[in-house]
Amino acid sequence: MISSGQNVCFVTPPSQGKSVVRDYAGGLGFEADSGYILPPLDNLQMAACIQNTFKVSLIDAQAEGLSVEQLCKKLKDTNINLVICEFSVPTLDSDIACAITIAQHGIIVVVKINTKETSILMKILASGSIRLCLIDECEDILTDIMLGHDTRGTAQLSNGEVRIVDKPFIDDLDALPFPRRDLSLNYCYSYPKLGECTTLLSSRGCPFACRYYCPYPMTQGRKWRFRSSESVVKELAEIRQLGIKRILFRDPVFSMEPDRVTEMCAAMMDQGIDLEWWCETRADLLPDDLIDLMARAGCKGINVGVESGDPALRFSKLKRGVSDDVLKGVADKTAEVGIKLAFLLMVGFPGETRSSVLATAALLQCCRPYSIGIGFPVHHPGTQLEKDAIEKGWIVQSDYQLTDGSLPVLAGPGLSPTEMVEGRDLLLQLFNAISANNAEAEHLLMNNIKTWSQGNP
Ligand code: SF4
Repeated sequence: MISSGQNVCFVTPPSQGKSVVRDYAGGLGFEADSGYILPPLDNLQMAACIQNTFKVSLIDAQAEGLSVEQLCKKLKDTNINLVICEFSVPTLDSDIACAITIAQHGIIVVVKINTKETSILMKILASGSIRLCLIDECEDILTDIMLGHDTRGTAQLSNGEVRIVDKPFIDDLDALPFPRRDLSLNYCYSYPKLGECTTLLSSRGCPFACRYYCPYPMTQGRKWRFRSSESVVKELAEIRQLGIKRILFRDPVFSMEPDRVTEMCAAMMDQGIDLEWWCETRADLLPDDLIDLMARAGCKGINVGVESGDPALRFSKLKRGVSDDVLKGVADKTAEVGIKLAFLLMVGFPGETRSSVLATAALLQCCRPYSIGIGFPVHHPGTQLEKDAIEKGWIVQSDYQLTDGSLPVLAGPGLSPTEMVEGRDLLLQLFNAISANNAEAEHLLMNNIKTWSQGNP
């Protein structure tokens, strides 16, 4: 496509007022509820992988608040030959419009998007302005793709049809260079619960059965692949040298192998790497001694997927293995060592009833997490939930761009969309009373939820 030595710019397109984190939802992208944005880690990683062959730069038009015209002017002013534009599903239409405008300025456009859904790829490629889509993990061969020597991991239009060339996931993650964070130092990124920060990926993939609805096992693979603790700690030291003080680990299951985290924490303390950090993992992979050590190594918070307080639902499809006892144990231990625990919840999964919402309320009362996030279930493209939702007619909102979890888009057996909103709002009110230590309001709200749960399902 281009020759060595030419200018490649990695671009996050403007997001039309939305705050989209493009590596959320397994790289499909998700709108962050409280308006924050995170570093474009995929772009920074890809930039590091091709920097020895091309001149690389980065523009985050979302972080900089640029219009498409302002973005194009910057690209022209710096003689960019090829742009790699990171698309997300919630911003698909505006991303396509942006890419078309860039191409009209005579710049080759390549799109990075983590889906193999042919209707989405066709929509992107049919514009005729986009050379190809990078759809698999292809950092290790990206230079060859750019030089036109390889097509693995890409989708292109061929005789009017989307032609996908698959590529296996990368096995040796330690072989990848560290992301070029220096390219993004002018931008301000933060995670509200942690503050100004950068992000880091120390492992990829997830083998758990919640892949029924969760896109990570689809986009990162069902095999958990990990970097050595030595490699991760070396990157942490480099981050500290850049003057960054906080890290959000973006691994889907950070403590999949507790021994690896133990090694990382021990090395951080030995080497005096004083970073504050936050991670996401499963509650059943957090033994007490590990929580202790994580706190001493700077961990400030942990997000755990809970989804529903209804154990039957949790054990069937949502979080097999994560019992109420496990959650209570982790809640107590994290509170003891000063780690903030966040419960990630859903309301309205097919099969969930008003009684399930009452069970979620009771679990919140019992565990008293530091924070909660509540979304509505989403039929992410390519998941089994999407296939079932199509087959069984559960989809009430089919526009992928509205599937950011803030609106009910599915109505399966159980709660109606109106009940989902009611249930979510009641849980949020209850949680506010719990975190304010307002016993009277908490009691009143529990009674309200009990009464609501006895209404018509
Ligand atoms: S454990 Fe987490 S990342 Fe893995 S499938 Fe379940 S929800 Fe997704």
